[in-house]
Amino acid sequence: MTDSLIDALQAKHLRDLKPYESARRLFSGGQDWLNANESPFVGEYSLDSRKLNRYPDCQPKAVIQAYAAYAGVTREQVLVSRGADEGIELLIRAFCDAGQDSILICPPTYGMYAISAETFNVKVNKAPLNADFSLNLDAMAEFVGKVKIVFICSPNNPTGTQVAPEQIEQALALFAGSALVAVDEAYIEFAQGQGWAGQLANYPNLVVLRTLSKAFGLAGIRCGFTLASPAIIQVLLKAIAPYPLAEPVAQIAAQALSAQGLAWMQEKVEVLNVLRQRLQDQLQTLGDFVQVGDCQANFILLRSQYKQGLMDDLVAQGILIRDQSKQLGLENCLRISIGTEEQNQRLVAAMQRFFEEKA
Ligand code: PMP
Repeated sequence: MTDSLIDALQAKHLRDLKPYESARRLFSGGQDWLNANESPFVGEYSLDSRKLNRYPDCQPKAVIQAYAAYAGVTREQVLVSRGADEGIELLIRAFCDAGQDSILICPPTYGMYAISAETFNVKVNKAPLNADFSLNLDAMAEFVGKVKIVFICSPNNPTGTQVAPEQIEQALALFAGSALVAVDEAYIEFAQGQGWAGQLANYPNLVVLRTLSKAFGLAGIRCGFTLASPAIIQVLLKAIAPYPLAEPVAQIAAQALSAQGLAWMQEKVEVLNVLRQRLQDQLQTLGDFVQVGDCQANFILLRSQYKQGLMDDLVAQGILIRDQSKQLGLENCLRISIGTEEQNQRLVAAMQRFFEEKA
């Protein structure tokens, strides 16, 4: 097969699509991985191999039940998938007609909403956040009746800011008759307040996305949750793969959601929130930095006129952070995930050296 044949065979809408530049795709070396908002902590889990000859349950009951109890929803309101990323993809595939429908995103925000939509030939409309990273509800109102799903990320990646509850209520009301409003709560455990899962019964168009990748320290198992009305969950189940969750994943997820697993998670969240505050305070004392937004997640966003030099300098020392400067409104911005105390101190020391040379 020649390349030109492959080009001709490739779906038209994929021709100009660039794949998502995941942190792990961009960099794989280094020792301090502060570029993917993972947890620096890892728990201990056991594996029972006796069922590995069987196909796994499509929606493992133990996992669904434990997550429903944790999130304060019913089992019928929970779907488990290969990460929250698959939840995003399923929403788009199950609710949007390819080549016809649109979604609405509020940049700067998580990149996968747009990539997932584009992969399925679904159009992406944008209502950019205000300068303070609040929702621009007037801009969003322009799209009422024109989109099927509105994605709101809170706490938002990469700004770290939480959307005010009144604003989410207004968005739910605006789109009540015409679109799903998906609130992505991947980082909710690090934030103040309860999140939106408890409101599902009040808003038939509300969807909440969750994950075990961040606070639970399980990005490696790929396990996420979509919380929504039973009617929405039933539609998603039509589009999901027959066996989305591998048996070892289901076993580890169930352990992570046990009383012991939840206590471990909560302790690590407290530690990471203290470490974030410490890192924020230390970076405040360094030259040229502006901290962007009030961070309610396991990362911080900084702006520096020396962004590129700093990024190169840190990467050369094996400290990986994420460049966000291509995002709308985030010129010169870098995102740094909170690492262990040692990792954070290596980062601070490296940044001190960098700025001393500049001075
Ligand atoms: N939503 C947001 C806001 C994220 O930052 C991420 C991961 N970077 C995801 C969803 C995807 O999470 P998962 O690992 O569960 O697919």
